[in-house]
Amino acid sequence: TMQIFMPLNFLGFVYREIRGAMANIEQLFGLLKLETRINDQPGASELKVTQGRVEFKHVNFAYQPDRPILEELNFTIEPGQKVAVVGPSGAGKSTLVKLLFRFYDVTQGQISIDGQDIRSVSQDSLRKAIGIVPQDTVLFNDSLFENIRYARPDASDEEVNRVIDLAHLRHFVEALPKGAETKVGERGLKLSGGEKQRVAIARVLLKRPPVMVFDEATSSLDSRSEQAIVRALKEVARGHSSLVIAHRLSTIVDADKILVLEQGRIAESGSHSELLSRNGLYAALWRNQQQEQHDEPTTTA
Ligand code: ATP
Repeated sequence: TMQIFMPLNFLGFVYREIRGAMANIEQLFGLLKLETRINDQPGASELKVTQGRVEFKHVNFAYQPDRPILEELNFTIEPGQKVAVVGPSGAGKSTLVKLLFRFYDVTQGQISIDGQDIRSVSQDSLRKAIGIVPQDTVLFNDSLFENIRYARPDASDEEVNRVIDLAHLRHFVEALPKGAETKVGERGLKLSGGEKQRVAIARVLLKRPPVMVFDEATSSLDSRSEQAIVRALKEVARGHSSLVIAHRLSTIVDADKILVLEQGRIAESGSHSELLSRNGLYAALWRNQQQEQHDEPTTTA
């Protein structure tokens, strides 16, 4: 048996090494489904994150010169703050995230982190500083446990177990036939959208980047998954600057600041209660979602 298992162990080791290296590539390119065409400036410095203040100043952007997508965006995520972006489909929410990762350069204006223009730092250091919980998480054909560890391959079992708790996955894990050792991915157990997002949250918790982006899945979740995600998100965001692209307003009522994006402009901004009392676009979106929830059938009999 030794002869059989040793090469297999070795292959397992090689696989884990490769997979570790792939973690960032997959998160940055695969999941955002983008190829970067941006190059580092000669002699680009390393981004130094001291507090985690993210600033958008007079940001304008267009994919094609004749069609502006974002116009005059001005906002700051203060260190440790949670800023949410809401708005109708096509308003430019994902574009804003792509600009923060510098998949594209702004057409005018500036994005900076702790005072450093993101165009002046290496892309590698920029992307290391930002963690993303994407809409759709890729799971490998491996155990759930290793799927979480892959965010930081040198993490100890204890650390992985801790983020399983923080991401509110413990209850789910305990109900699985082999617990955290259960195989997931294409050939394994399939996870629901909400469960996958919590795996992504666990990964980000393990990586602990100073700036976090949460791109909420558009697909609707049952209210129990949603509540688990809201709680997990709170754990993720604690002490970190975070940007949440939200589709369900219930996930962002506690945000320090909500930006309502409409056709590439900030139409309104403020806290949940400030925006409700303004009685504008946000208040209308909120009433709509409350109504939808109310309309959901509660009985099947
Ligand atoms: P949703 O809520 O539906 O995800 P969104 O607010 O995130 O929408 P974006 O994906 O940022 O909106 O898109 C904003 C606009 O930019 C849309 O009109 C879209 O067609 C356009 N757009 C997005 N990506 C590209 C691209 N690669 N090239 C050209 N136009 C694009």
